[in-house]
Amino acid sequence: MSDLRSYFADYQDAMVQQLTKMVEYETFSTDKARVDAFMDYMASVFEANDANVIRHKREAVGDALEAIWNADAPGKPILILGHGDTVWPYGTLAERPVTITDDGLLYGPGALDMKGGLVVALFAIKGLMERGELPQGPIHYLLTSDEEIGSKNSKALIEELAIKSALVLVLEPPTRDGSLKGWRKGIATYTLTVKGRAAHSGNEPEMGINAIIEFAQQALAINELNDLKMGTSVCVNVVHGGTAGNVIPDLVTAYIDTRMMTLQAKERIDAALADLHPHIPGAEVEIEQTHYRPPMERNSAVIEKVKAIGKGIGMTVRDDGAGGGSDGNFTAALGIPTVDGLGPEGQGLHALHEHVVIGSLPRKAALVAAILRDWQD
Ligand SMILES: [Zn+2]
Repeated sequence: MSDLRSYFADYQDAMVQQLTKMVEYETFSTDKARVDAFMDYMASVFEANDANVIRHKREAVGDALEAIWNADAPGKPILILGHGDTVWPYGTLAERPVTITDDGLLYGPGALDMKGGLVVALFAIKGLMERGELPQGPIHYLLTSDEEIGSKNSKALIEELAIKSALVLVLEPPTRDGSLKGWRKGIATYTLTVKGRAAHSGNEPEMGINAIIEFAQQALAINELNDLKMGTSVCVNVVHGGTAGNVIPDLVTAYIDTRMMTLQAKERIDAALADLHPHIPGAEVEIEQTHYRPPMERNSAVIEKVKAIGKGIGMTVRDDGAGGGSDGNFTAALGIPTVDGLGPEGQGLHALHEHVVIGSLPRKAALVAAILRDWQD
């Protein structure tokens, strides 16, 4: 075992304690008061580790924290990205308290997604400081509060910090088998609105324009945009329409979820949706994009560098990809080298069996520490 790996192995128990403490703060994305309490706690943790902490106030969600080491050092910063919010409402912890099993798993709401990753990055920095190996350049650790609900309140800050950084490390969990998330699909969602004209379906059906019948044809056309071989999915997943059994419906709204591997595929979807036209005379069709995280395309130069750094500490680093997005999608789309999936291993993202493999906490801390220490532009 390399020096760095055995160094962090000694920290395993401390990492478990730190993770337990973090999970015991319940931080559902929309629960501002509780997320703020967690941010108070994290600010004290960062400060105890010699960081300067900036608090970015937020109205609608919990505040974000930016912890900075070596603020005035020359060179481009490395940006560490993590989110403190979870998908679990207050009360989940009482149902599923933190549990550690004999086979080395730590169960708890938000342990894998992604408080385990927060612990990994924190200890990577702490360990490098103790060893006198913290890199000379600035390190920014941004802890956001709304990743699980689309990062609307954080996107601008993430982009502002990323654009001046040399490298972005995203502490989201790896794939099921522990691989980095070398690519992530982009996500775009849309609302389709179809307008017709209401009429009594008994007295004067000929006066009506049936928005449901118009919508049905649009839905079939939209479904044709799927190109699963190329990793593009276009799904009409929610539909609302109609008011009463004897009224020809004048309005349908539908929710469309699309995922794609490349910016080119996103352009193709947009062009096709913009080109939708009504089939029934008098009907209207409108499409509006409601959310977008661009695809994180695989950057092999970055991945090869991480693999080489891993090899340097005796670790085999693999990479794969993910259908779901993260805040790394924003930074990769700006052209900033982004490494995602650096958190601890485990299973059960957003599921009842969510758990972290305890033995992977020090392993991942060693890898993140090595990347911070050894990364060269
Ligand atoms: Zn996450």
